[in-house]
Amino acid sequence: MKKEKGKVSAIMREQALDKGLLEKAGRCAQDYLDSVLDRPVFPGEEDLEGLEEFRHDLPEEPGDPGEILDRLHRFGSPATVAQVGGRYFGFVNGGVVPASLAVKWLVDAWDQNAALYAMSPVVSVLEEVCEGWLVDLFGLPEGSAAGFVGGSATANLCGIAAGRDHLLAKCGWDASSKGLFGAPELKVVVGDGAHATVFKALSILGLGGERLVRVPTDGQGRLRPDGLPALDERTLLILQAGNVNSGAFDPFAEICPRAREAGAWVHIDGAFGLWAASSPRLRHLTAGMELADLWSVDAHKTLNAPYDSGIVLCRQREALTGALQVSGSYIAPSGHRDGMHYTLDMSRRARAVELWACLAALGRRGVAELVEDLHDKAVLFAHALAREGFHILNEVCFNQVLVSCGDPRLTERTLALVQGSGECWCGSAQWDGEFVMRVSVCSYRTTAEDIERSVRAFVRARKEARL
Ligand SMILES: *Cc1c(COP(=O)(O)O)cnc(C)c1O
Repeated sequence: MKKEKGKVSAIMREQALDKGLLEKAGRCAQDYLDSVLDRPVFPGEEDLEGLEEFRHDLPEEPGDPGEILDRLHRFGSPATVAQVGGRYFGFVNGGVVPASLAVKWLVDAWDQNAALYAMSPVVSVLEEVCEGWLVDLFGLPEGSAAGFVGGSATANLCGIAAGRDHLLAKCGWDASSKGLFGAPELKVVVGDGAHATVFKALSILGLGGERLVRVPTDGQGRLRPDGLPALDERTLLILQAGNVNSGAFDPFAEICPRAREAGAWVHIDGAFGLWAASSPRLRHLTAGMELADLWSVDAHKTLNAPYDSGIVLCRQREALTGALQVSGSYIAPSGHRDGMHYTLDMSRRARAVELWACLAALGRRGVAELVEDLHDKAVLFAHALAREGFHILNEVCFNQVLVSCGDPRLTERTLALVQGSGECWCGSAQWDGEFVMRVSVCSYRTTAEDIERSVRAFVRARKEARL
């Protein structure tokens, strides 16, 4: 006799009561965290081959959750990048603060939709709390608004949209109803060192490409104030806290007062660098940035909050919510914070809760120490490499170090061997037309021993590359 197939929803209702499943997930996660400090930082050939396990057709029938979890841990975990360990220096990717990871598990069980207060009062309130804490921590104008988005790419898009609409509104042009065709021209000014996502946002928003006024940068990638065009009330100026390669900060104290006086609006892309403002020792890097109008920043970089967590901040709440407002007959104004009016998304996960946990766990002192520690470790890394004869090409003002072997081909071969060593991992960039290794110290897990060990890996790789 043919076996009766169970109704899938009935099967899942049973699974939802299974206490063993989440315990098993917890054991797998713990097992991963127990081994992550010892595993190769980038997976080896064999681990990558294991991924073939996942390349099969969609199953016709429901699978067992425990077996699915097992399969993922067995073949997926080894093919991860050991980013939560201490020797990952790739891109500007942060680790994960324990409190925020633990909280994320609970939040995942909640499965809240952060769009509206009516969908989740707790998320709405914690967004409000995070907004206040961040404005305080960064020293931004009181009452500044925050939107919680996936990352700085989106935060830049939201911020620049708000700036665009605000400037056009001041010219008597309502961009949301009239669009951009026939609108008064805005002057968009951006430094040559701006991040790729800024150019992407500008092009999506109809402001991009050849009509931009590009300002040259100095040897560190800082926008040169003497290269700025005349600023006026139709100017949107985009600055940067933390050049993605060198970590350098634009000279806000020199530029922002000028922009403000001229009536221009300023957006600062501070994806990882804005956090310098939270440290008494590093705050000088961001001096003057509080005079801007819009800021973007990532919690998943310097703060070591879990992915994905970006924030857009705006001096004028209405400018942000005006550009991102949504309405519909089924959405009643609540009198509370409805998070979707601050972001592109409507349905959205409750990422602000992990951010709240991160900030609560670190406190003001903890955030400052974390940021300072990343800087100190970057300086340590740079000094140790310099002692071994590597060239350090940037002033290590924050957490980024640009390294070369003095000869581009040797640098390239050395990097490939470092990346394949499993000992540590960093990426590359073009700096001043030269191929360089790009080290980002971005995790609280990194110790002085991790740096020593990584420097030894660099030295071995260079030696092998010379053969
Ligand atoms: C990382 C980064 C971005 C993009 O941020 P995501 O979080 O990856 O979207 C934008 N600007 C700068 C300066 C960055 O470092």
